[in-house]
Amino acid sequence: MKFNVRSRGDHASNVLTQRVKSYLEEFGLVYDEEEPEIVISIGGDGTLLEAFHQYAYRLDETSFVGVHTGHLGFYADWQPEEVEKLVIHIAKTPFKIVEYPLLEVLIRHTNDLETERYLALNECTVKSMEGSLVMDIEIKGEQFETFRGDGLCMSTPSGSTAYNKALGGAILHPSLASIQLAEMASINNRVYRTIGSPVVLPEHHTCLLKPRSDVDFQVTLDHLTLVQKKVKSIQVRVAAEKIRFARFRPFPFWKRVKESFI
Ligand code: NAP
Repeated sequence: MKFNVRSRGDHASNVLTQRVKSYLEEFGLVYDEEEPEIVISIGGDGTLLEAFHQYAYRLDETSFVGVHTGHLGFYADWQPEEVEKLVIHIAKTPFKIVEYPLLEVLIRHTNDLETERYLALNECTVKSMEGSLVMDIEIKGEQFETFRGDGLCMSTPSGSTAYNKALGGAILHPSLASIQLAEMASINNRVYRTIGSPVVLPEHHTCLLKPRSDVDFQVTLDHLTLVQKKVKSIQVRVAAEKIRFARFRPFPFWKRVKESFI
């Protein structure tokens, strides 16, 4: 089996990365950064987000597992002192695959025929580079509202515990193939009106954001930030692809939520 190990880059994660790499090679596994079948992320959730984006083009062939070298991780379930056990599992036992839904983001431009396509594991956020964000929001082809405010956050169920949670969004179990649209400080008065609460869309519903004016936008995809000009629309929905996690033992979602937040 071909593997890669990705480190957060701090000393403790780098040391652990070298140990995992040499243990796996001792078991006859092949280190391959180009086409790994399993990627071991050593660091935090941010490290796993980076690993996901590195291999987002080959999600069918790559599984992920995380070791956390800091506080408890949502995507990283193994402790540093357990790496020998994890290595033996990877080398010796066929692992179970758990799939989580992803967000698909399509950005269309007024001056360009080409559509940009991105995937996000946590979320996509949209903010205006100047003044309030003003967007018409369509859900499943119907005008839903005109949003005015700081920004919008469209998250996956596994990303619902990240930025979305800070915006007052609900925590969704990753078995619910859905996206959640959460507002950032919407302007609500007699003139401007938005729904004011987070909205959860099912797999077959598409959300389309259409700018009211030709301004530049800041679009984030997990930890990545893009500046987008001449935007015609930003379309979000549940992606056809899923991320695959290698599971060697149960990793209950609600236990993670409880241990992280309560
Ligand atoms: P960061 O700003 O260095 O760290 C963001 C924090 O969010 C880290 O503590 C990270 O955990 C945690 N996190 C990441 N994914 C999570 C998840 N699915 N559930 C719960 N916590 C999660 O940024 P980063 O490490 O590059 O991560 C990018 C993420 O930061 C974005 O996807 C966004 O969700 C989040 N963010 C949150 C806010 C906010 O809450 N106001 C604002 C901006 C961005 P680790 O320490 O284990 O890596």
